Amino acid sequence: MERQKTIIKRQGEFFGYPKCCVKAFLRRVSGKKTKDKQLQVARAGFIPCAKHADKILKGETILENVIENRMCSIPFTSNKVSIYNIEFKKSERFKEWLKMVEEEEKIVIKL
Ligand SMILES: [Zn+2]
Repeated sequence: MERQKTIIKRQGEFFGYPKCCVKAFLRRVSGKKTKDKQLQVARAGFIPCAKHADKILKGETILENVIENRMCSIPFTSNKVSIYNIEFKKSERFKEWLKMVEEEEKIVIKL
């Protein structure tokens, strides 16, 4: 489970998802229910945390602006952004990221 959490956190970094949203995702993995407002603003596989969902619904920001320092070279809304997509797996950034995480975390990630 710890290993899985580490991979999820690192994947969140790769996609530029804020730490709070990644934490919210981890709570959902552990069984916490997703709020309707979160689902309302979710797109392209990214479900922001409740705080960010509020901001988006109030018009203070947009989903794209919640994403910062994205390492992934494929745009957020592309349907190619999936670890199951061959083109995605072949992207240089993804391969770099995979190598970096495996070295830093001393793990092997099988996808
Ligand atoms: Zn958030």
